Amino acid sequence: MKIAVLNQKGGSGKTTVSIHLAHAFSMRGYRVLLVDTDPQGSTRDWAAARNGEAPFSVIGLDRPILHKELPKLAQGYDFVFIDGAPRVSDLTRSAIMAVDFVLVPVQPSPLDVWAVHEVVELVQEATIYKPDLTAAFLINRKIVNTALGREVTEVLGEYPFPVLKAQISQRVAFAECLNIGSTVLEAAPKSAASDEVRAVVEEILAAKE
Ligand code: ADP
Ligand code: MG
Repeated sequence: MKIAVLNQKGGSGKTTVSIHLAHAFSMRGYRVLLVDTDPQGSTRDWAAARNGEAPFSVIGLDRPILHKELPKLAQGYDFVFIDGAPRVSDLTRSAIMAVDFVLVPVQPSPLDVWAVHEVVELVQEATIYKPDLTAAFLINRKIVNTALGREVTEVLGEYPFPVLKAQISQRVAFAECLNIGSTVLEAAPKSAASDEVRAVVEEILAAKE
């Protein structure tokens, strides 16, 4: 399965979510490839901080040739994640054409949920060529122990994609772990943060069946 983590909005958590999901799937025994399409290369920096000992493969490919190259690159992997680029560009379109599923991390604030219409439109355009393409929103950086605001729920509810039940909270651990080339799954496997990541994995696997 190929999954692109996309949202042109910076800070929505594409890199955080991509690395954590890639790690969680690899811990479940799947062979995982993570493709960094952000020219800034945060995911490559993360892998470099581990001295090449990432628990999954990481490559950088920040040119809009993903849809052509990915079938070959994905050979031998069970799951491929694409850490999306920061702007809507040919790179984003290429990523959408390369995958089966688009995951859109979104911060639960009105400004952020309004901004998702761009990526929603791109996915909808792509379904003309790829009718089996699916997408979902993943709430990221939710403030712990708060309900989603009514506005957030209403705006996301108007879009044609579901919102995953599993949500990722705003937790310092997510940021701290990435800075040192780790993940919460490794640094704190029994934490609430790790439980949240694993719940997303379960939901994606359940939806796949
Ligand atoms: P993007 O790749 O979409 O630009 P990042 O994953 O780099 O987003 O996240 C942007 C910033 O927000 C980073 O500093 C990251 O550490 C922080 N961040 C993202 N998700 C969370 C979270 N769930 N909890 C705390 N900090 C987060
Ligand atoms: Mg990023």
